[in-house]
Amino acid sequence: MTPTSPAATTAATDTHCPYCSLQCGMRLSTGAAPGTAPGAVPPVEVLERPDFPVNRGALCGKGRSATALLDRAARLTGPLLRDRPGAPLRSASWPEALDRVAAGLAGTRAEHGPDAVGVFGGGGLTNEKAYLLGKFARVVLGTANIDYNGRFCMSSAAAAHRRAFGLDRGLPFPLEDIPRTGCLILVGGNPAETMPPAVRYLRELRENGGTLIVVDPRRTRTAELADLHLRVRPGGDLALALGLLHLVIADGLVDRAFVDRRTTGFERARESAMAHWPDRVERITGVPAHRLREAARLFGEARTGMVLTARGPEQQSKGTDTVGAWINLCLATGNAGRPYSGYGCLTGQGNGQGGREHGQKADQLPGYRSIEDPAARAHVAAVWGVDPAGLPGPGRSAYELLDGLGRPGGVRALLLAGSNPAVSAPNAGHVTERLRALDLLVVADVVLSETARLADVVLPVTQWAEEDGTTTNLEGRVILRRRALDPPEGVRSELWLLRELAARLGVPEGFPVEPEQAFDELRRASAGGDADYAGISYRRIAAEDGVFWPCPAPDHPGTPRLFLDRFATPDGRARFADVTHRPAGEEPCAQYPLYLTTGRVLAQYQSGAQTRRVAELNAAAPGPFVELHPRLAERLGIADGEPVAVTSRRGRAVAPARITDAIRPDTVFMPFHWAGAGRANSLTNPALDPVSRMPEFKLCAVRVDRATTEAAG
Ligand code: SF4
Repeated sequence: MTPTSPAATTAATDTHCPYCSLQCGMRLSTGAAPGTAPGAVPPVEVLERPDFPVNRGALCGKGRSATALLDRAARLTGPLLRDRPGAPLRSASWPEALDRVAAGLAGTRAEHGPDAVGVFGGGGLTNEKAYLLGKFARVVLGTANIDYNGRFCMSSAAAAHRRAFGLDRGLPFPLEDIPRTGCLILVGGNPAETMPPAVRYLRELRENGGTLIVVDPRRTRTAELADLHLRVRPGGDLALALGLLHLVIADGLVDRAFVDRRTTGFERARESAMAHWPDRVERITGVPAHRLREAARLFGEARTGMVLTARGPEQQSKGTDTVGAWINLCLATGNAGRPYSGYGCLTGQGNGQGGREHGQKADQLPGYRSIEDPAARAHVAAVWGVDPAGLPGPGRSAYELLDGLGRPGGVRALLLAGSNPAVSAPNAGHVTERLRALDLLVVADVVLSETARLADVVLPVTQWAEEDGTTTNLEGRVILRRRALDPPEGVRSELWLLRELAARLGVPEGFPVEPEQAFDELRRASAGGDADYAGISYRRIAAEDGVFWPCPAPDHPGTPRLFLDRFATPDGRARFADVTHRPAGEEPCAQYPLYLTTGRVLAQYQSGAQTRRVAELNAAAPGPFVELHPRLAERLGIADGEPVAVTSRRGRAVAPARITDAIRPDTVFMPFHWAGAGRANSLTNPALDPVSRMPEFKLCAVRVDRATTEAAG
């Protein structure tokens, strides 16, 4: 796409929010306001879009203020490059910047082999971008090393989902089913802050007589809505699920007919659960046995039940097994593959779902195909017009890729799009050092993020309201973002720059610049795969409020509810996971006696690269803080608002104390949206889940001191 000069376009465009996985519908009003100078940027206003079913017009503050991101002053409007290491970034033309990138990638590949070149994507990229980024890595660069920040988001849930059901889609049912279930257990999620319009479904559930149980170490805004809050110790979610299954079995609440007819592996799961009796689980989790009994009875006796997990149980070095234990609870009680019941995951990023389906994950090809499956390779290679034997195999997972940057055998030249790992990766101080060690770092982004500041070349790209593109929300609903206004001059789409780079690297064909053309190719590449988009078109999405995959043909209605007849395993039965409690990668000790857990706040989003540039959001959430219990604060002599230092084996962060009894006395909490001294990910543990390769963001062992005392000492 070649940008045209700014101009007022249509009066109103139906599109979606650029942020979280709810992908709320919104209407953007554009047009020259009275007094707007000729050629000036037209004002853009966010309007409600009450006809879109997911949010029915409701938006949180992030969505309402999203047009601030379009402000030229807050963003990149031309390429930047560094003439030599250590030199400042300077303005460059597009041809100069692209020539430099192409020469750097080609040179590294020639000298060190294709796997020395890497690609790191993001869960906020549209399906079209994620698809072509994966194709670019495999076809143009020939590298196995492509992964993305979605690995840090819901990969444990995806792995457990796939292990149990043979297929992973965040929610196997639409959100509208939630109010019609009898009992919902929400584990480690805080939608009241992360996706407030979704709270409507929780309220309606309770109005309908259903029960809400929240599992969280903190008394969050969501926990305050619950009938029962289980304030689990960080890392205790797996034992908690096993303890509930123990009680369901002991109380005779297993749905034996369902277990016999639709599942396998119950006996092993039962044996493990029976070793997790209430007193033992109370010791591990800190949840009193009588609360466990209450929860087991509420869930086991409900007419239907759902379990939803989010990052709390998933971002652990045992995340896959933890989610598996919660799925076991669903299966034992007959709550899967039936209306108004089942297990689901609340994905995080705007395209967390679609971003993991179409090829930017190290082990996958489009359509959720395995890169190790010969038939899958043959299908995708035919669509791409290449020899399947030439496609690389699986590469390194996100943290392993980042950890290896600039090392022998690791990636030496990295193209990074839509991600800010200098803030969002675990052990972020170390990751920043690795980024600095690269021979070439190329960052495509809307803003000069902390990672872009480290780059040798920065490529400014278009964003949500300036381009068409699809995303797939947490329900598996494929939706369409529409271009509402022209991008600034000097900004290009990722699709355009991939085509330009591909051409410079000897592949002049196969990289469409028009999003709809890219989507049509994605449809063919996904056809026959698990995430089959073959029957979905831009026209259908617009006409139908989105289309749920799988949708294998234009006359197929899409699939809002999965597994009603059979699960996607070879025998059609869901599989119980054989799991048992184990400690976290790092538990508190004499030197680091407390747990740290991390998370999000209402007015910021992920690494904050976008939201920290929005004045309204900054006013609401201006900086990091350390939440600690009054008893802990008293013991440490820390007053509210006083700077405190949090230290782990990997680093140190300093932020003001926020004293509240909403946190457990053995745990401190920090939000992870900020860089600098208050960067929570300076502390987090990159211990990886053996299946999903998810790092253990959600807990590590720390020490807390008064920052002033520490400095004096
Ligand atoms: S809930 Fe998510 S998608 Fe909806 S407006 Fe807020 S950030 Fe945007």
